[in-house]
Amino acid sequence: MTEVQLQEFKLEPDSELRFEVESKNEKVVLEVKSGYAELFGTELVKGKPYEFHTGAKVAVFTWHGCTVELRGRTEVSYIAKETPMVVYLNVHAALEQQRVAAEQENTRGPVTMVVGPGDVGKSTLTRILLNYAVRMGRRPIFVELDVGQGHISVPGTVGALLVERPASIEEGFSQQAPLVYHFGHKSPGENLELYNTIVSRLAEVIAERCENNKKASTSGVIINTCGWVKGAGYKVLTHAAQAFEVDVILVLDNERLYNELKRDMPKFVKVVYLPKSGGVVERSSTQRAEARDARIREYFYGKRTPYYPHSFDVKFSDLKIYKVGAPSLPDSCMPLGMRAEDALTKLVSVWPAPALAHRLLAVSFAAGPDDHVLHCNLAGFVCVTAVDPERQTLTILSPQPRPLPATVLLLSDLQYMDNH
Ligand code: ADP
Repeated sequence: MTEVQLQEFKLEPDSELRFEVESKNEKVVLEVKSGYAELFGTELVKGKPYEFHTGAKVAVFTWHGCTVELRGRTEVSYIAKETPMVVYLNVHAALEQQRVAAEQENTRGPVTMVVGPGDVGKSTLTRILLNYAVRMGRRPIFVELDVGQGHISVPGTVGALLVERPASIEEGFSQQAPLVYHFGHKSPGENLELYNTIVSRLAEVIAERCENNKKASTSGVIINTCGWVKGAGYKVLTHAAQAFEVDVILVLDNERLYNELKRDMPKFVKVVYLPKSGGVVERSSTQRAEARDARIREYFYGKRTPYYPHSFDVKFSDLKIYKVGAPSLPDSCMPLGMRAEDALTKLVSVWPAPALAHRLLAVSFAAGPDDHVLHCNLAGFVCVTAVDPERQTLTILSPQPRPLPATVLLLSDLQYMDNH
């Protein structure tokens, strides 16, 4: 029998309550009873219940002290007095100074990239800095380059959002009109050429948009990255730094990476070492896979606010599906003027087959396969829930009702089992 547990915590100024919800189908409700508290930079409203579900790893921080109540079963819950929040607040203050200068001098605000190995709190720091900026009345751009555990659209993409209000406690940043580009794998290593191509494209489009939006431009950009920091992973990071012309790199918890970047970045790039929070929880590969799955489920079904996706059949003959990347040949076998790497960003036609079951398909805004497909933003995703070779149809789960737009569909490696 499960009894609902009620726990009350009194937090002193500059401390945080950390808790995790682990057991399946568990729900924990958090409420601030008195004082002020924030969750990864978003203020909590006193007396309002917030729900957290399986997999949540949370810290409620207070600058001034507060009393917090938790209802439900938590795996861990404790108060920590040692946190790096003052250091993170100082980083925010320094970025804010640069934004003020940008406003006065009519230049661009700080472009900041957060880097570090997996599970050091990169996404959390990104969220905190964006929230603090927007709470100061700024409109920063959030760029997500983590194709494995990203927070924009579904995994296997890179994307950007203009942040106009703090992240919702339960649902994160509002996903209205994101810019999203197709990658189709969960690690940049699966196609470095394609990854660098779309990162450059995203940087280009953001630079263009900033030219037309002074407020966003002076507010700056905060970029979250993958936790792959060695070898080719390091090259991917330096390529992104160059593409976005970053001003600041925040390195979490990795001295080697800090020193390498200090050595390799031009002098005008400020490379700053930051401690990680003792609260950041390491995730196993199973937990990462579950988190990816949960993001895809949220994409189709919503989180707190439910969405109602549509399911319908589409004829094979009405579909134009492509995958990106032809098998690469040695340079000596390539036509004159083409490099072997060029094959990695080529579109290859895919005929519908049972192997497509459960795969995600990106719906491109491109008019046709010759329309610079990789440079086109995505309209969204559908999931193939069934393939019927006899009737020559696919059953599709889609956020939009039928028909499927008659455009290019890009095959992703990512799968989702729809058992709703
Ligand atoms: P990274 O982006 O480096 O992989 P995340 O920011 O996603 O790391 O953090 C890993 C996990 O730790 C997340 O589930 C996050 O909610 C949790 N977390 C981060 N900071 C804290 C903290 N101070 N207390 C408790 N959990 C935290």
